[in-house]
Amino acid sequence: MTGRDLRRMDHLTWPEFHERLNQAVFILPLGATEQHGYHMPLGVDVFLPLHLALRIADAFPAVVAPPLAYGYKSQPKSGGGGLFPGTTSLDGSTLTASVRDFVRELSRQGQQSIVILNGHMENSLFASEGVDLALREMPAHEVKVVSINWWEHVADDLLDRLFPEGFPGWEAEHAGLTETAMMMHFLPDLVVADRLEANEDQKPIPQYAIAPEPPGLVPASGVLHQAHGASAEKGAVLADVLVDEIAQILRTEFPALAR
Ligand code: ZN
Ligand code: MN
Repeated sequence: MTGRDLRRMDHLTWPEFHERLNQAVFILPLGATEQHGYHMPLGVDVFLPLHLALRIADAFPAVVAPPLAYGYKSQPKSGGGGLFPGTTSLDGSTLTASVRDFVRELSRQGQQSIVILNGHMENSLFASEGVDLALREMPAHEVKVVSINWWEHVADDLLDRLFPEGFPGWEAEHAGLTETAMMMHFLPDLVVADRLEANEDQKPIPQYAIAPEPPGLVPASGVLHQAHGASAEKGAVLADVLVDEIAQILRTEFPALAR
């Protein structure tokens, strides 16, 4: 890491932080520590919202808070499940309380505009619950929180154009085409492209939940749909589209902060 990055809350001094209160949205990247196949590291779900948030901060006044790097328990049909070494998850109540406390702490300091940018499917409703519990304790005019799952802002026609061989749907996308492509774009050194072949042990996964989770339910690689067809160029297109879309959402929802 070289130099200070003034988009990042953890690089600011306290007087700099104080100056940015209510001059910018504060974005919490919400992720997970979860297996992502043989070709990608455990941090994908936190790296992607972090790097998207930093780019968004170039397009709209924003401060990127230190990410929450743990998420709710990986489910077999959307994240490969909890049996892989390295997948290290929170109970739902812990995640809910962490999001609640983040919103409460920023609003206690006077910040009124907060964004939660989520990179892990299983987090969504627990994060919503955390926001709801925080807001329940404060007057309605004091804070506004916008929660965004990045994958909900990729248009179907863009997916068709980028991945003409077929897109498996977002649940099966875990460690697949879009995550691999954006990792190749943002953090190419962390993708081991020649291990993609080893992910080819595909098989159907039950579309219902079994507890306790039976071993061997998902492919041994942990990848639910192979990621051939991903490239850094496609990742750049996806990142550009997402930054534009999300910056537009922020201009709509927080017009007083728009430059
Ligand atoms: Zn992921
Ligand atoms: Mn995930």
